[in-house]
Parts: sequence; structure tokens; C-alpha cells
Amino acid sequence: MEGKSNAAGIRFRPVEGGRIEWNGTFANLVLPLIVDPNDPVQAHALAIANAISCRTTKDGNVVKESGVKYVRLLSRTIRGEERVFAQLVFRGVPFQKAKHTVQRRRGGLDLGPSHVAVVTEGEAKSFDFCAGLDRKEKALRVYRRRSDRQRRANNQENYQEDGTIKPRNERKRWVESHRQKSTKVELAEVQRAMAAERESLQGAMVHVVLSMANDLSSEKVSKKAWQKLWGRSVGHKAPGRFESRTGLLAKASGGSLELVSTWKTYLSSRCLCGKRKKKPQSERKHECGCEFIPNGMHADRDEFSAFLAMHCQGDLLDEGKAREAWLSWGADCLLRSSSSDVCGSRASGESSSTTHKPREARQRRARPKEMRGQSGSLANRSGQRRKSVPINIGRRRALGTSPIGLQLPKTSQPGVKNGGPHAA
Ligand SMILES: [Zn+2]
Repeated sequence: MEGKSNAAGIRFRPVEGGRIEWNGTFANLVLPLIVDPNDPVQAHALAIANAISCRTTKDGNVVKESGVKYVRLLSRTIRGEERVFAQLVFRGVPFQKAKHTVQRRRGGLDLGPSHVAVVTEGEAKSFDFCAGLDRKEKALRVYRRRSDRQRRANNQENYQEDGTIKPRNERKRWVESHRQKSTKVELAEVQRAMAAERESLQGAMVHVVLSMANDLSSEKVSKKAWQKLWGRSVGHKAPGRFESRTGLLAKASGGSLELVSTWKTYLSSRCLCGKRKKKPQSERKHECGCEFIPNGMHADRDEFSAFLAMHCQGDLLDEGKAREAWLSWGADCLLRSSSSDVCGSRASGESSSTTHKPREARQRRARPKEMRGQSGSLANRSGQRRKSVPINIGRRRALGTSPIGLQLPKTSQPGVKNGGPHAA
């Protein structure tokens, strides 16, 4: 909920260290600000909020303006408790922390479903996309399953023999037990903490990208297509959000993020020599055997694509420029020997891409099985559930004693706590 301006409705007043006021029909709300005096971001914000500037309008009138544009009230349920935050929207330039440096130069970005690569002159970096987020996916699954079991147990008359929900006209009112409600709260807490952690991880990644370059080019990829291909693994990482945040901060620092068309540049399948060969997603190397990438050498697929993206302009790859750059610094920076491990100073990027390879390959293999309903463990479980009667006590017990059923909600708790402060 937000106001239109700081003049009426929900507004900020710079009295007694600042407070939020909101006069309603039934009551007047006065909320004092809770300020951390050692936080430079808050100090910067307060300095703007307390300043009053004069502005000349189009008609020539001089109006006094507060540094606050408007106030937004935000409600969040944290660990089952509803908390309300006020967000002040300011005029002026945001505070930039000293640790967040911005390099004002050209760079290429390659955003993959699980990998990000950044290349700029003389430097290349690749890292896992939102690396710390995997664990909560499991906790979510446990809570969702528990919630489903509880809903079935509480509403047996709403389910058919085969476990599906009865048609609307045969259904009774849904009943929710206290335990089911608390499961819901716990589930929401995991989701909120995950979102908060994702925001924080992505923010850190955006700053890593900008510390290398702020005039960026990247392939325009369809997040929808990713979701179709990798569904769960992509959905909770929110790559689109990462892309838009990178674009926003790049723009704020005087640079830009240009998205080039995949169909016209086909960066992930082409080579500097002009050859085109489509690689499967599991293939993490770019090999060619031409003068640029000789036999026995390779480049990291994401980094190579980012390198090419860097030399794109208006949906076209400037091949001459790219070749020139490759000979002057690109080869030193990106080229590696295939037989021995690493070339140059790129040890960290190499390790992250090698650790990642098996996981992705496994996912690709598992998917068709799951769909066909063969003996894969996931397919087996969901298959059983569909056939089973609403509550199967034997099955419940089995799930309860399984390591997933018991331990995960507990182990997920510290994660939940970690996620907390990010939102506040
Ligand atoms: Zn080639």
C-alpha cells in the first residue's frame, strides 16, 4: 500500500528523528522510525528525508519539496508473526557502498539456467547461479507433502476412491486443522526466507557482474522456455529477476544491459571461425579445432558465449572485432588445455563448472523416465499417491520414519533463520 505523494495520506514527517503518520477515519497512526545509527545506508536516506529542497514548476512557481517522494507500507509475515515495514521512496541518487565498485567498461554476460559467466577485457569469471538455494527446495517438498497429507486426513469425504478430489457439487466444506494451519505457516516461512535469500544472493551476483563491467551485452533468452525445460530448478532461482536487476543497476551507474537476439546471433552454437554447431546443454566446453581454438584446447562454453556477446551490437556479432580481441587478450584469458586441467588464472571458474556438469547431466537423464512413469523413485511415489486411498496409515508411517520426513524440517530451520534478516 503506498501514498501518491508525501503531502497527504501515508507520509513521512522529519520530527523526533522521523516518523510515519497516517490519519484515517477511525484512528490516527503515528509510527516512529527504528533507525540503526551505524548503518551508512540509513544515514544517507535520513539525510535526504530531512532535507527540504525548492523546485520551480513549469508555471514559474517555487514549491518546497521534501526529499521523500512517497511512503509505502509493506506487510510481511515473519516466523508466523505479521510485521509491517515502511518503505520511503526518495529523490536523488542511491547510496553506494564502498565495497560495491563499478567498472565502467564493455563486457559480455551469459546467463544460463544454472550458470552465469561474465567476460570483460582481460578477465573472465563464471559462477553457479544462486548456488546456496538448493536445500530449501527439499524442505519445501516435505512441507507441501505434509500439508497434502493433512488436507486429505481432514477432508476424507472430499476425495474419491482413487485419491482425486470429488467434483464441486459433491464436495463438502474444506476443513482445516490447527496442525494443518501451522504447517501452512511453516511452509510460507520457508518460501519467504527462500525469496529473501534469493534476493540477497542475486544482489551479490549483480555486484560481482558490475565490478567487472557495466556496459553489458547478453543473449535474449526465453525464461519461459527454460521453465519448460528445467521447471523446478529454474523457477525458484528467478533468472528474469536477476537480469532485470542487473539491467537496472547497470543503467543507474551510467552503463546499460543490451539484450541481443539469440536467433540472429546464435552465440552459444557458433565459433570465431564461422562454424556453427549446436551443443547440448550438458556439453560444457566449446571445442572446434580451428585456428582460434586449436585441437586439444577448449573454452568454457558460457564464457565463450559471453565473450561473443561482448562484441555484439544491435543484434549482430562484429566478427572482425571479436577475432581481433581473441588474438589480443581473449585466448590468454579463456583458452584452456583439454588434457591438463587449467590454463592461466582461471582455477575457480573451472572447478565450479566441473562440479556442476554431473548434476545437470543427471537431471536430463532423469526427466524422461519420470515422465514415462518408469521405476524412477520420484515417479514411483507420485504414481502410488494417485492410486492410494486418501489416507494410508502404513504409508504415512513410512514417510514419517524416513530420513526425509523427519529430519528435513528441522535442518531447514537454521536456513530459515538465516533468511530472516535479509527482508528486514
Ligand atoms: Zn572454430
